[in-house]
Amino acid sequence: MAARGPDRELLARVALCAVCAREARGFGYCHGLRWDRHPYHRFCSRRCQDVGSTIARRNNGMIDKTAREAQAIRDARTHFAEALTDLGLMEPFFHRSAQDIDRLIEAAVTGYIDSMQDQAARKERTGTVLDDPLPF
Ligand SMILES: [Zn+2]
Repeated sequence: MAARGPDRELLARVALCAVCAREARGFGYCHGLRWDRHPYHRFCSRRCQDVGSTIARRNNGMIDKTAREAQAIRDARTHFAEALTDLGLMEPFFHRSAQDIDRLIEAAVTGYIDSMQDQAARKERTGTVLDDPLPF
């Protein structure tokens, strides 16, 4: 996803977790410690480091998020359906294609991750929860 506006330069300096895209916090892994041959992956937590290093060991030092992202979106369908049911909104969505549902989930996830990355680039604004009177 592309960075927008004046945050673009800041974003380039903020390292993100190779597993979950949260801000990286001092955890890392380089396959075989071969810095000349394999990328150095950064992680937000020990948990993501364990997961990411396991993936990298299986994939010659690489962490490809594409397949896991697609699976995560499929896995989120259940939670999405539960929320629709709880809100009495299942009827308009029930006969939509899996692609349509995945598109809605992906839009929400992309917006969430964009915001997390933007916030990581603006550390001075942490701790402020703004009122959110309108959903859009
Ligand atoms: Zn992480």
